Amino acid sequence: MEYRRLGKSGLQVSVLSFGTWVTFGKQIDNQLADQLISTAYEAGINFFDNAEIYARGKSEVVLGNILKGKDWARSSYCVSSKVFFGYEEGRPNQTGLSRKHIVEGCHAALKRLQVEYIDLFFCHRPDKNTPIEETVWAMNTLIQQGKILYWGTSEWSNDEIMQAYVFAERNHLIGPTMEQPQYNMFERAKMERDYLLLFRDFGLGTTIWSPLSSGLLSGKYIDANPANTRLNIEGMDWLKERTLGDESKLEKTSQLYVLANALGTSLPKLAIAWCVKNKNVSTAILGASRLEQLKENLGALEVLPLLTPEVMERIEQILQNKPVQPMY
Ligand code: NDP
Repeated sequence: MEYRRLGKSGLQVSVLSFGTWVTFGKQIDNQLADQLISTAYEAGINFFDNAEIYARGKSEVVLGNILKGKDWARSSYCVSSKVFFGYEEGRPNQTGLSRKHIVEGCHAALKRLQVEYIDLFFCHRPDKNTPIEETVWAMNTLIQQGKILYWGTSEWSNDEIMQAYVFAERNHLIGPTMEQPQYNMFERAKMERDYLLLFRDFGLGTTIWSPLSSGLLSGKYIDANPANTRLNIEGMDWLKERTLGDESKLEKTSQLYVLANALGTSLPKLAIAWCVKNKNVSTAILGASRLEQLKENLGALEVLPLLTPEVMERIEQILQNKPVQPMY
């Protein structure tokens, strides 16, 4: 396993990490969840990602029980939670980034995860109804109280993150350490264009999500619609539409599949390696609903040496979606 600094912070995260969205507390049973966490940890993964909204708190309960049952030093791994969408009914103040929901959300996540502190605590989305100042103050307070160690954002715009940095600096508060954006071969704009100044000037770290675009980049949807996947779970039609709705992505996926075979590897490994080849990625969060998937994906780092400039160029020719840099 390779470890990278989470941006300019002193925290070392494994470049591959493991997340629980859709799977824990929902798609898979707790025994498999335990096997996945053990396999990830034994492979050197030291960051497990979670959120209050995942299975409405159940995902954190499952992870918390698993971690409690292990004899692993607390210092050997990091856990996250994310606040914004809520875990209750969604009444006013049960969602968002007000001081009230951030503090209550943190306390609830600490209980569900059964930990004394959360290593990485994210604002899961920007909150248009709360001044960023209030959010920065609330996060700074939680750090001072020792309830969280680092705070960050997820799917915030460049301007919103910049505003948080500037406010924190001006008031000698601790600003965001990391952002959690989607990043994969089909979703590149934030990582490769929007955040470049944040990387250069503020040392923003990133914990990127959906490196396989929810399984599309495993190649299993080329000419097929396997029934036992997240896209066919009841209530996930929106994700199916987002993932499979664009025919051109399937066409590109089959070309990438051929390329991966020609390189003597598999498409999921190639797709994950492509993400972590970007040095602004601190860690790529893997997801898996089966043990074999995780074991395969953990092999992605072996593919990094195959990503020569020629191969990267061939991938660009297939994708045709490189974000254009501003001219000024
Ligand atoms: P991926 O894009 O890698 O998708 C993972 C899913 O793809 C698996 O659960 C499995 O689903 C399928 N899959 C994975 N590997 C293989 C394989 N080798 N062969 C075939 N199918 C495979 O990542 P996620 O979308 O799960 O995102 C990872 C993590 O990122 C999440 O767990 C969460 O922690 C975080 N996240 C954060 C978000 C945010 O807003 N901040 C949003 C989304 C995720 P199946 O078997 O069901 O097809």
